[in-house]
Amino acid sequence: MTRPELLAADHIRELVQSHTNTERITRDDGTTSIHAVTHPPLLDQLQQATTGSSNLSDDNAGTRFGSKPAGHLEALDLLARIDRQSAALGDVHGIDEPHLTKRLIRLSGFIGHRPDRQVKAWWSAARVITHWDSPAYRPHGTPCPACWDTGTLRIRIDEEIGHCTGCGETWDATGSPDTPPLGLLAQHVRWCSDHEVTKPRHWLLDDGGFPVECTECLDFREAWASWRAGQTEAVARGA
Ligand SMILES: [Zn+2]
Ligand SMILES: [Zn+2]
Repeated sequence: MTRPELLAADHIRELVQSHTNTERITRDDGTTSIHAVTHPPLLDQLQQATTGSSNLSDDNAGTRFGSKPAGHLEALDLLARIDRQSAALGDVHGIDEPHLTKRLIRLSGFIGHRPDRQVKAWWSAARVITHWDSPAYRPHGTPCPACWDTGTLRIRIDEEIGHCTGCGETWDATGSPDTPPLGLLAQHVRWCSDHEVTKPRHWLLDDGGFPVECTECLDFREAWASWRAGQTEAVARGA
């Protein structure tokens, strides 16, 4: 499935303004209907997430938001990333605007007329992080194909967006040349889970029922393990 490619101006608009989407609602009996749903600006939703002032009552917080502390940090991280990267982008275009929302609106005047990979990454990440009601799928045991870290991938099937909280890479289903396709990420996740790549070895049973080591995933497993060991060493050295 492909959607028309959005321009940087479209992405910035959803970050800074309230926006109305049409959404398909599926009821318990399986029937569906289309509704117009108005969302607050994504930046406001992120800000809300960092202060923990969610619009749902506190009674629900304990049970429904099991992953809230992580989401809270992710929201803070993302706001900092957008602030940092948009300031750098502002420098390029001679924009010196300390207020994030105003800076993005001014940026839109310069880069809004075309798709922008970085702006799209902010938007995708914000969409992934701000959905409190149904947390994103986190494929444990799948290293991010871009940065190799584990536990950082977030996938929203309904939105057709994938995002890595570690390196900021995004995947989607638009088929645009500058964003890797979500299908590729899904394939990677399935392969990594089939082959249990983050475990030391992957055993299969041969025809006689004897365990034999899988060779298909050997190279990936060794490469990932040695990268992992390098990371641990670097942390130990305090690098
Ligand atoms: Zn990554
Ligand atoms: Zn294997």
